Amino acid sequence: MKEQKYNAYLKEIGKFIPKDQIYTDELRLLAWGTDAGFYRLIPKIVIRAKDENEVSRLLALADKYTLPVTFRAAGTSLSGQSISDSILIVAGKNWEKYSISEDFERITLQPGIIGARVNEILKPHGRKFAPDPASVKSAMVGGIVMNNASGMNCGTHANSDKELLSAKIVLADGTRLNTGDPESRMTFEKNHTPFLNKIIEIRDEIRNDNELSDRIRKKYSIKNVTGLNLLPFVIYDDPFDIIAHLMVGSEGTLAFLSEVTMKTEHDYPYSASAMLYFSNIKDACRAVVAMKPGPVFSAELLDKKSLASVNDTTGTGLTAVLTETKADTPEELQANIEEIKKILSPFKTVTPIHFTDKPEEYSKYWAIRSGIFPSVGGTRRPGTTVLIEDVAFPLKELPEATADLQELLVTNEYHDACIYGHALEGNFHFIISQSFDSPEQVA
Ligand SMILES: Cc1cc2nc3c(=O)[nH]c(=O)nc-3n(C[C@H](O)[C@H](O)[C@H](O)COP(=O)(O)OP(=O)(O)OC[C@H]3O[C@@H](n4cnc5c(N)ncnc54)[C@H](O)[C@@H]3O)c2cc1C
Repeated sequence: MKEQKYNAYLKEIGKFIPKDQIYTDELRLLAWGTDAGFYRLIPKIVIRAKDENEVSRLLALADKYTLPVTFRAAGTSLSGQSISDSILIVAGKNWEKYSISEDFERITLQPGIIGARVNEILKPHGRKFAPDPASVKSAMVGGIVMNNASGMNCGTHANSDKELLSAKIVLADGTRLNTGDPESRMTFEKNHTPFLNKIIEIRDEIRNDNELSDRIRKKYSIKNVTGLNLLPFVIYDDPFDIIAHLMVGSEGTLAFLSEVTMKTEHDYPYSASAMLYFSNIKDACRAVVAMKPGPVFSAELLDKKSLASVNDTTGTGLTAVLTETKADTPEELQANIEEIKKILSPFKTVTPIHFTDKPEEYSKYWAIRSGIFPSVGGTRRPGTTVLIEDVAFPLKELPEATADLQELLVTNEYHDACIYGHALEGNFHFIISQSFDSPEQVA
């Protein structure tokens, strides 16, 4: 029965999608059956869509045959978001158009542009694309926004949710909506009145429940990307704004994103970084908590295992905090460095604090940080799978919480686990290597 549905779907899409954009051969399906995560699902059909019209028709037909669809940008997701055992629609190449507002404060992007490319486009104008996952050199706008991916600088103050202004989307039945276009909104209002009323109803239900609204606010004040984004219901009145912001972090489950307009951020021309070494993880976290109100733009923790994975020879058992400050002038940069040193004066660092403003030096530190996941993965025991997870804590609880997390990993006998990540935002990744070759190990 299912097989018949896929065959009927293939026949119908063959009428408007060229053959070379559709893959059904075993080898290609196998290749598209994996992303950067550790899961595998073999798709039945892979389609490289070229434009919004194609996506709209592909979705309407999938809806007709009740066949599930998954979208993919660059496929660097780590938790199986961009794999499918049904239809996989790929929107990477061919989706790389953009336009910038005259004041350079807004950029409209198609989903297939790589994050780092957006920064190249904006750099000459002194602006940047704020969401900054460590995978920014490969990850694309569609994936970054739909995963609400964020990294070392953007925290919760400049993530995709904070930067998004409007979205052009295609819903599961093929309906198109541009939340930034008055005409498109009007048409949608006319044709989808119950849909909009439902959004308003949910908004009001949440807002009339103070306990729930407070809980949502609290959850999103830390780097919370679990589940669908509920924050828009609390902070936006306009149902179209709610719909657009609901896309952020929805992992492609609510709609296809065909274009997004985002704010750009000021790109400071001067920066300096220091690798600060502490004798234990708790002290490192305490130092991060102290630095938070200072002129610190990022503070990335690398625990002993992370440092060992990149053969850091400073000393065994140390924890490092890669710290960065930025400024508009060299004088301001120097003043920032002095201020950070003053904040850190009560803390004992293993080596003297040394900030470098030389790009050839600090880019090496940041390359180490960006490469931690593959480096640690490379040191796993043969036959094990690398599992990576995220946890976020309110910052003031970070030192205790991190020590607890470390203990939890040891108690569960993950002796080669590592903890690293965005300490300044109270957000860590932890990596464990797990074997799945016996029922005990699976349990
Ligand atoms: C080495 C490494 C480092 C990483 N570092 C970070 C990090 O620091 N922070 C972080 O948050 N993540 C990180 N990631 C995870 C991942 O890179 C990011 O989440 C990234 O944003 C995914 O982008 P992508 O283009 O690969 O999207 P994909 O993996 O292709 O897709 C991501 C999600 O978006 C959906 N999607 C894609 N395009 C569309 C579209 N047009 N419309 C609707 N839905 C769509 C997909 O269905 C999927 O659910 C890292 C991954 C790796 C491998």
